[in-house]
Amino acid sequence: MKMEKEILKGKNLFILLSFLGVVFLGIVLLGCWYLITPRLGQLQIQLPVVVGMAFITIYLAIVALFSLIVLSAYLEKDLISAKKITVRILFPLATVIGKLLRIPQDRIRASFIEMNNSLVRSSVGLIPGDRLLLLLPHCLQSFQCPHRVTSEVRNCRHCGGCEIADLIDMCSRYGVKMSIATGGTLARRVIVETRPKAIVAVACERDLTSGIQDSYPIPVIGILNERPFGPCRDTKVDLALVEAAISFFLKAQPKPVTQSAAGEARSGEREKQWEISQHVKSHSGS
Ligand code: SF4
Repeated sequence: MKMEKEILKGKNLFILLSFLGVVFLGIVLLGCWYLITPRLGQLQIQLPVVVGMAFITIYLAIVALFSLIVLSAYLEKDLISAKKITVRILFPLATVIGKLLRIPQDRIRASFIEMNNSLVRSSVGLIPGDRLLLLLPHCLQSFQCPHRVTSEVRNCRHCGGCEIADLIDMCSRYGVKMSIATGGTLARRVIVETRPKAIVAVACERDLTSGIQDSYPIPVIGILNERPFGPCRDTKVDLALVEAAISFFLKAQPKPVTQSAAGEARSGEREKQWEISQHVKSHSGS
């Protein structure tokens, strides 16, 4: 049982389900060929063989494509432009196979997010800081906090009651835009208005999966939140993972927190970086 968990951790589950999907596709092609063979034979004696060869060629091309996608993900090397196929074809296929095998949806989604992250890391180059967006869910904010940071992150008082203050400081250190969205609609609006070249997104399995799909072709590194108090309340995130994702896009070394950086985060200079929040606020009111 432990070994099975080990084998299916990370992106492995998604790859296994996708592989089963590809096998299933082969069986469907074989079935189609078998069903149409008598008709084809009536038309021309050699037609079943010709069509059979065409089916085999198509299927081998699919298997080769799938193999390249898996290799790209494991090696984190850009062997093939695979994100579209993964997001648009393999994920729905893996979801259907997972449902048939009664695998919890969130496990499949989490594995898909890992797969997506590997493909993004394999294919995306340097992104300027001002074109990188850190997108956060509002449930990261302390439930007790009276300050409305979703409409304006500068309202945060840096009291240390939740990780929002740390994330604000982190974005300030790297010169990255940050936005806190109350839902998918607002998140989509933020993306349309800021037109980022890449996104680091924190959310639950369901929201991250739909966010990655909706944002395509913008590359997204997804980081799952932690939910010690249940969903949508006082959630947490591993700050080291967020910093690693930002550093990846900026091709920067992690920057240590300094007094000046922390002070800068609280200064009026930050206003420029948080222009996205002002955009959202003004549009939310309209
Ligand atoms: S750190 Fe900011 S957002 Fe979090 S509880 Fe304190 S004031 Fe509120």
